[in-house]
Amino acid sequence: AKDPVRVLVTGAAGQIGYALVPMIARGIMLGPDQPVILHMLDIAPAAEALNGVKMELVDAAFPLLKGVVATTDAVEACTGVNVAVMVGGFPRKEGMERKDVMSKNVSIYKSQASALEKYAAPNCKVLVVANPANTNALILKEFAPSIPEKNITCLTRLDHNRALGQISEKLNVQVSDVKNVIIWGNHSSTQYPDVTHATVGDKPVPELIKDDEWLKSGFISTVQQRGAAIIKARKLSSALSAASSACDHIRDWVCGTPEGTWVSMGVYSDGSYNVPAGLIYSFPVTCRNGEWSIVQGLSIDEFSRKKLDLTAEELTEEKALAYSCLS
Ligand code: NDP
Repeated sequence: AKDPVRVLVTGAAGQIGYALVPMIARGIMLGPDQPVILHMLDIAPAAEALNGVKMELVDAAFPLLKGVVATTDAVEACTGVNVAVMVGGFPRKEGMERKDVMSKNVSIYKSQASALEKYAAPNCKVLVVANPANTNALILKEFAPSIPEKNITCLTRLDHNRALGQISEKLNVQVSDVKNVIIWGNHSSTQYPDVTHATVGDKPVPELIKDDEWLKSGFISTVQQRGAAIIKARKLSSALSAASSACDHIRDWVCGTPEGTWVSMGVYSDGSYNVPAGLIYSFPVTCRNGEWSIVQGLSIDEFSRKKLDLTAEELTEEKALAYSCLS
């Protein structure tokens, strides 16, 4: 039998956490033959709710679940973890300045970076979900210098999956037949969902859709605004789809992407596609042997170039704002 993998979920008593932990315990993140030990962290006001989640995990009698640590202590939560999914963060509240939200999250990610760096297992893989996800991941990277930058990523897989879903609905084809969309840039409304290289059964999506106008406006804004549309409909933000895509992100990273398929991940930019190095930016990646690499050599037309640059500019500004909160 395999040794259990320790998976940390921060903000585990929240909405996404509640959807995510049973998926992990069922083997959806790491596979049906991989035992897991869940480490759940939340803040003191959520301690009782967190304990309730732990009780439900016991009650669900998941065969793969070999243990549960539920705690408000970051050191206990981070000790020995192989995978860390960072969902906890300070929410945007009405009337709050962007700088105030940033400042709260910078301090959370700074201290959690230190706990991970000191206590996580070597080669721990980190996925940041909490917003502003790209910039939180960057702060985590800065304050965990011994964790290789390749191990620190943020979630844009939900946006990627949303793009697949929109194409599948438009063409009335199975979502599993749609491949190789790309989310470029920030997990925000400046992200660029790009179908230039996407295919359905080896046919290019732009040729199948034959509606350039929709692809260049309606499609892009639907994907960009999908989170807001869910909030409007559910009166709560997306949680099941966020949790499911977090599982997809880790599974593909650990187990590899299928031949001929890429996915979108927020990763540390090395300057590929003239994206400024040193940002956490969403790129098309393939994964093998537990490592991602940015897909190289894709053609970028003029329309796309502008969109790639615009979202990079926003990330550069966010980075500056985050650093100004540090001093
Ligand atoms: P959710 O579980 O709904 O969301 C958690 C985070 O994920 C938020 O930052 C949210 O951003 C972000 N997120 C990223 N992508 C998505 C997406 N597609 N859809 C929805 N959210 C997305 O929030 P809850 O408030 O239910 O839970 C948060 C938990 O974090 C609570 O249990 C709380 O106690 C904990 N917490 C921890 C803190 C800490 O560690 N110090 C501080 C504050 C809270 P967005 O805000 O933009 O929706």
